[in-house]
Amino acid sequence: MACETADPVVEMKSTASSVCDDAVALDDAFDRGLLSHLVRHAAREAEASDNAIEFVLGVTQEQLEVIASFAELTAADLALSGGAPAPDDEQLMLRELLMQHRSQPGDIGEWLACIIARRSMEPNHLWEDLGLPERPDLTRLLMRHFRSLAANNTRNMRWKRYLYRAICESEGFSMCPSPTCDACSEFHICYSDESGPSALARNGRDGKPLVSE
Ligand code: SF4
Repeated sequence: MACETADPVVEMKSTASSVCDDAVALDDAFDRGLLSHLVRHAAREAEASDNAIEFVLGVTQEQLEVIASFAELTAADLALSGGAPAPDDEQLMLRELLMQHRSQPGDIGEWLACIIARRSMEPNHLWEDLGLPERPDLTRLLMRHFRSLAANNTRNMRWKRYLYRAICESEGFSMCPSPTCDACSEFHICYSDESGPSALARNGRDGKPLVSE
């Protein structure tokens, strides 16, 4: 008895659609995991510094509630929520820069722009101060949500340094002591390795990477 032959075009379309659905599901899971890490890290820092989570995270109370719902966090995760002062000029400039490069639909780009701008005020590697397990998590975040900005970091400059340099360029001035990076006395500051285990991983908390590179 002859077998019924499957239509190869339909099969290809079905496979492509399934791959696409899988990719969307993975991106969605990454975003939820990402925001969960950011909020939980901010909650711990808020507790340690006796501040509101909104202040530590750089978002409004309304934004925090929506983010928490999206990231499936509980009321216990937000125990220290409260008011936050208005962001300073530096934060606003960084927010604006990031907002100009949003590459995903919806509100998530705005949330992340606020959070990255606020956490960039802290002294450690940006991925550490965001509460991410590893630098590749930050690279994926920026490539996914601020692609046109991140893709220009072709020499793998440290991310915080890169963002500040981008602000300077957009404002028409330069923080650079040299016209070229290779001849610059600050090369080691801009390009030194910022990977390695985070403070969180060293403390055995949230050390699992969101993505491997
Ligand atoms: S290495 Fe020097 S020239 Fe290059 S971005 Fe850093 S400060 Fe500017």
